[in-house]
Amino acid sequence: MTVRPTRTSVLIVGGGLVGLSAGLFLQRLGVPFILVEKNRNVSLLPRARGIHLRTMELFRQIGVEEAVEAAAAAAWQQGSFGGARRGRTLVDAEPIVDVSTMRVKMAAAGASPSSFGACPQTLIEPVLRQQLEARGGDVRFGHELVSFVESGDAVVAAVRGPDGRETIIEATWLIGADGGRSFVRRQLGVGRVETPAPQHLLNIFFHADLAEAVAGRTFSQCEIANERVRGLFLAMNNTDKWSFHLEYEPSQGLPADSELPDLVRAAIGLDDVDIDIPSRGAWSTGVSIAERYRVGRAFLCGDAAHLMPPWGGFNATTGIADAHNLAWKLAAALRGEATTALLDSYETERRPVAVRNGSQALLRTDFDARFGIETQTNREVFPALLDAGALLLRHRYRVADGASAEESPEWVAHLQAQTGTRFPHAWIRRDNQRMSTLDLFGDSYVLLAGPNASVQPSSRASLNPATPAVYVAGKDFEFVDSEDDWRTLTDLSDDGVVTVRPDGFVLCRSTG
Ligand SMILES: Cc1cc2nc3c(=O)[nH]c(=O)nc-3n(C[C@H](O)[C@H](O)[C@H](O)COP(=O)(O)OP(=O)(O)OC[C@H]3O[C@@H](n4cnc5c(N)ncnc54)[C@H](O)[C@@H]3O)c2cc1C
Repeated sequence: MTVRPTRTSVLIVGGGLVGLSAGLFLQRLGVPFILVEKNRNVSLLPRARGIHLRTMELFRQIGVEEAVEAAAAAAWQQGSFGGARRGRTLVDAEPIVDVSTMRVKMAAAGASPSSFGACPQTLIEPVLRQQLEARGGDVRFGHELVSFVESGDAVVAAVRGPDGRETIIEATWLIGADGGRSFVRRQLGVGRVETPAPQHLLNIFFHADLAEAVAGRTFSQCEIANERVRGLFLAMNNTDKWSFHLEYEPSQGLPADSELPDLVRAAIGLDDVDIDIPSRGAWSTGVSIAERYRVGRAFLCGDAAHLMPPWGGFNATTGIADAHNLAWKLAAALRGEATTALLDSYETERRPVAVRNGSQALLRTDFDARFGIETQTNREVFPALLDAGALLLRHRYRVADGASAEESPEWVAHLQAQTGTRFPHAWIRRDNQRMSTLDLFGDSYVLLAGPNASVQPSSRASLNPATPAVYVAGKDFEFVDSEDDWRTLTDLSDDGVVTVRPDGFVLCRSTG
């Protein structure tokens, strides 16, 4: 008996942070999709914890911000997230930067309706999965993509289920969000531009009751160097869940599993503490960027497209923004409202961002530089360091100005609806509701107009710039805060207009 293939618009491969986010972005736009994830459950190995406010803005748009905030609030069982320490061992480590200094820096990123989040990835992924499933998403954990081929107007993919049987899924588009070792990328024959890794680390996720040892001295990162071990503690709940990232020499291979508890004890500085290690995984701090982000009907997103060290917390944020950039373009293509150039712009916009963010992460290899502390040995990197706000919130797609895609994206000091930048946030009132300007975006192109602009209200809004939703300041919405008005927000006169893409980035603006 022949089993008929299942047909869908988008096949998402990978149920990590980026694949799950891609599903939620597509779902919001009403795009049918199937998500396949080879593991039966979300990852147990903690990695990312810092969630940049741009990611929280994207979570806000898909209605999961509050659920992620709730998971974050429950994550830290004592103290708070933030601050850095250094020492021979965890118990004798001294602070090098405190939480409040880090918070001030984060707050300077730019005005936003959202705030930085700090939540282990292992707690965010279940939230995203649960939301996706609760909204009826076709999410198939325990299903592995084993082959695919482009045929006519579809990608024909073979997926192996938990019972070992293969099914065929035909999708109009494929998103490879399948992580650093991306099967999709390798099958497409896409190479990577690699920068060698300065460090090789083994992420040892362990349970140990260190609540007393760190009481009043909690931290985000704690660098350890003694005669036995070098590495980095990353806090997961400030009490009994931790990751120790043990530095190792690749030529000597990884230590045996049986040695790991003792090595962790040597890093903690306590001989008699019980160590339970549920998972571990080796990784390195090189940068590697896929040479192409698109081949035909297949796109690469997240770690499948770019790997970079976690210093600065850029990678998942960059990956989730990739998925956001791609989702509306695919929706437009599926509705017949996109040009080929629009789909190509995914790579020309997102790849230079990854190249730049990767090199910025590398500049933070030095522990002090990572926290903005200038020393004799790291002085030379400071002139090139850009703050996270410039990289993740205030970047400017140069392609919008017709520049070459190979050129590094620019950034602006202050968002004012410049072409290619994210439209600035201000609190507004519309239909008796307090909302952010950012809440106007997501469903279609939007034409925002000054109070004296001569524009017609729209009868139909779409993912085509020719038919935007139209909102006139002072008529369709009011500014809530007295210091905000059309001119300060956009640097345009009262008859100016700004066209904003569905992802909240400015497509064009009137001059003057
Ligand atoms: C120590 C550490 C700390 C970090 N801290 C931060 C931070 O603070 N902030 C930040 O932004 N980033 C951070 N990162 C980076 C962040 O963890 C990654 O960028 C992020 O997890 C990438 O998500 P992803 O969904 O692209 O890939 P992954 O999380 O790797 O998910 C890919 C998924 O695809 C699945 N898959 C693979 N092949 C197939 C197949 N053939 N079929 C079906 N499924 C498949 C895998 O099982 C996996 O679940 C950190 C990374 C590390 C190592």
